[in-house]
Amino acid sequence: MSRTRVSRRALLGGALGVAGALLAAEGAASAAELERYARVPWGRLAAGLDGRLVRPGQARYLEAALLYNARFADLRPAAVALCRGSDDVARCLDFTRRHAVPFALRSGGHSYGGYSSSPGLVVDVGALNAVEVDPRRRVAKVGAGTQLIDLYDAVARHGLLVPGGTCPTVGVGGLAMGGGVGVLARRYGLTCDHVLGARAVSAAGDQIAVGPEAHADLWWALRGGGGGNFAAVTSFHLSLEPVPPLALFSQRYPWDRAAAVLEGWQQWIATEPDETWSNCQLFSEGSAGLVVQVNGVYCGSSAELRRRLDRLAGLAGPAGASFVGGDDVLEAMKVEAGCASLTIAACHTAGQWPGGVLGHAAYAAKSSYVGTPEGRERTAQWAAAVERLARDAPALGGGVAFDGYGGTVNRVAPDATAFVHRDKVAGVQATFSWGTGSPPTEIDAGARWLRWLGATVIDPTEGAYVNYIDPTLTDWARAYYGTNLARLSRVKAHYDPSDRFRFAQSVPLPAQGT
Ligand SMILES: Cc1cc2nc3c(=O)[nH]c(=O)nc-3n(C[C@H](O)[C@H](O)[C@H](O)COP(=O)(O)OP(=O)(O)OC[C@H]3O[C@@H](n4cnc5c(N)ncnc54)[C@H](O)[C@@H]3O)c2cc1C
Repeated sequence: MSRTRVSRRALLGGALGVAGALLAAEGAASAAELERYARVPWGRLAAGLDGRLVRPGQARYLEAALLYNARFADLRPAAVALCRGSDDVARCLDFTRRHAVPFALRSGGHSYGGYSSSPGLVVDVGALNAVEVDPRRRVAKVGAGTQLIDLYDAVARHGLLVPGGTCPTVGVGGLAMGGGVGVLARRYGLTCDHVLGARAVSAAGDQIAVGPEAHADLWWALRGGGGGNFAAVTSFHLSLEPVPPLALFSQRYPWDRAAAVLEGWQQWIATEPDETWSNCQLFSEGSAGLVVQVNGVYCGSSAELRRRLDRLAGLAGPAGASFVGGDDVLEAMKVEAGCASLTIAACHTAGQWPGGVLGHAAYAAKSSYVGTPEGRERTAQWAAAVERLARDAPALGGGVAFDGYGGTVNRVAPDATAFVHRDKVAGVQATFSWGTGSPPTEIDAGARWLRWLGATVIDPTEGAYVNYIDPTLTDWARAYYGTNLARLSRVKAHYDPSDRFRFAQSVPLPAQGT
């Protein structure tokens, strides 16, 4: 078996071209509103920016308007501001206030709900992507628009790492504010656990430094409270870790053992040391069939990893095809990202980065958690759910992926940061994806499958991950934030009393939410 992974990006259909927006986006503006947004004096904003303001009909507007999820390919903001600094961000916020135009903040554009687009102005900080590393103090100042692969590359040059996520083009802005769960999380924690401070533009237009000494409540909320809620972040101060030896593995099992493997894997990961991170994926590859795969990264030697995998075999049974090998940190991140054979430049989105070759994806998802290792009856339900997707939408890819939590993630108290899910064995993500040629009837079937899964198999009391933000979730605020919701609402009331940072699932003000 090769070291190529079925990356999360591939699970979300990342190899596909731009597919049409077949599942409609929510919260569309009325024709009259759109007409008004088109008529505001955009030229005045453009004249005051260091960066560019791109309007419909102008060169590169379509690329600037595009989110990662091709499901939102039809969204057409009245303007996209390609900001070059925090002054630009402040000017955009001031302009939208004076002209009563809605706006959305965007770093990497990977919001599952399309919440980094707006019928008004998109305030895009993608160009704020400088990474300044202080290797001696092991800290970095990182522009909010930095894409993960560039962050990993910049810090790896100093023999350092920051725990992040898998997709190379995700923005550190959205990732860090929602949590940031990745292959080094059990050893080093979440990305938000490494946020020492941030610089931001407040709803009032002030440029502020946020950290334990100043605006500590906002600092708390920016670490897990979700992007787009409290302030426009322009950069983060992140703590870095020295790179350990790393070993990677990936193994497959016959589908008829799916329930047993998932059960054994949950028992295994719940009792592994922090050095082991792993996920267990049950998915349909469309016409290529059903797959059970366990992947992971071990902070240590390949020899020790093999011993850990012997333990897994004792619980989950022997694997079929498998790969075990050592790697340096950047290569490991590229393997996890599904772009192992590519240069760093190529590991970006085609059309949105010079030399980038990666595609967009059209997908829909739901998330949940596993609180304690599940028994066979329950894991059989997950396996049967994936079989149902394969039956109902045989041409589409999708399934369920379980990401190991625990270790360092769970040693942080649930109220120490806004990220509340600190007692879980695993995070769960259910997805299906489609491409340009996918039959609309199957896309509908996939959407029905996801709704059915949410209503039957997923346990709503386990919560959901705000970075897999789900427009179809009803009790979403409680699911994302649990016991931290009331405090988040208070922070919102303090920093954004008139709810300027608002979208369909933004943190509610206290009167509405708690
Ligand atoms: C292929 C793929 C793989 C993924 N893998 C992982 C993973 O391994 N681990 C993980 O934890 N997550 C993962 N995610 C989820 C990802 O963390 C979230 O989608 C994240 O919110 C994306 O951040 P972004 O900056 O790219 O998105 P954006 O769409 O730009 O932003 C997300 C939200 O934050 C707001 N926001 C953006 N920039 C700012 C800013 N500067 N200030 C304030 N608010 C802002 C937006 O308005 C939006 O509401 C993955 C997503 C995809 C599509």
